[in-house]
Amino acid sequence: MAGLYFHIPFCKRICAYCDFFRSASLHLKEGVVSAMHDELREEHSFISDRDVRTIYFGGGTPSLLAPVEFQRFIDDADRYFSLSDVGEITIEANPDDIDAKYVAELRRTAVNRVSLGVQSFNDAELRFMNRRHNAEEAVAAVKRLQDAGIENITIDLIFGVDGFGEDVLRQSLMQALELQVQHVSAYHLTIEPSTTFHRRLCRGEMREVDESRSEAEYALIESVLCGAGFEHYEVSNYAREGYRSRHNSSYWQGVQYLGIGPGAHSFNGEQRRWCSQRLEDYVLSREFQGEQLSLKDKYNELIMTSLRRVEGISLSDVERSFGAECRKRLVSRAARWIDTGDLSLDGDSLHIPTSRFLISDAVIESLFDE
Ligand code: SF4
Repeated sequence: MAGLYFHIPFCKRICAYCDFFRSASLHLKEGVVSAMHDELREEHSFISDRDVRTIYFGGGTPSLLAPVEFQRFIDDADRYFSLSDVGEITIEANPDDIDAKYVAELRRTAVNRVSLGVQSFNDAELRFMNRRHNAEEAVAAVKRLQDAGIENITIDLIFGVDGFGEDVLRQSLMQALELQVQHVSAYHLTIEPSTTFHRRLCRGEMREVDESRSEAEYALIESVLCGAGFEHYEVSNYAREGYRSRHNSSYWQGVQYLGIGPGAHSFNGEQRRWCSQRLEDYVLSREFQGEQLSLKDKYNELIMTSLRRVEGISLSDVERSFGAECRKRLVSRAARWIDTGDLSLDGDSLHIPTSRFLISDAVIESLFDE
């Protein structure tokens, strides 16, 4: 089974925290979309698995495309892959793009899951982040999608934002519960170089939140969402039963995927590659950068992807794929974290307790092979 990812790299406005591969040069949109169809035709055989189970339109802001354009990509993919078992087709959308006409057109496509970039239900926080929408538009977008029969809606929330504390976060979480969305992704703000937030940070106009604040907000999310029946199944992801993101889960399980569009990554089990050109160049021809994964890379990848999930890593899988010595090394490196409670070993499964996911990066890195 395989996944397809289409990267729509356009945004009308650049958010203050964003360092994704995206552009506000909307005049290039038509050319890029057409080049993405070319790329799909030319590069589909990069992955050997023809059995596509999930399709994901990410960005950028995919909802800048008309719904019919998603269907064109799906129809195109149908020529090169078997789509008969596709269970999940997701688009990322900005709430203010989701008007009645858009939803009606979306219902005429095969898209069955919408990921809304809500980030917060607080207007002041949304303005601070330079988001295009306000809270009312976010609520209206969810309701419009639900009224049209879209039953699988996920929203993104950001926490750890200077100046907006636990009360604001609680307000956003309660609104998400009231709206009865099926899935929430909650990301801690990280201030990346070349973002507006980074410039504000350098000028002393904002701060990064301290560790205790991060921990308190994380605990709040955990208690509100899990208390309401969500499962915390991956570091940043919470789902109602049966609504885990299948597309992202396949990334974490090492499934092959083909990424189409500027900046999109592909993985065929042995090699990872991506095309990160300027949009003007991408339209003309595509050049890829890539890396062949060594055994060590594959092992480190398995550690990273498995330990981000609540199931953790199976020691017998490690032994089967990398040998008994490797398993021994892993168990020995894990010992100090098991002592501190940052890792648990239950039978064959080594995993990070959900209450410690916030510091998972340090644990995971310490288990890598150098
Ligand atoms: S909409 Fe998403 S991709 Fe576009 S600038 Fe904002 S965060 Fe970045």
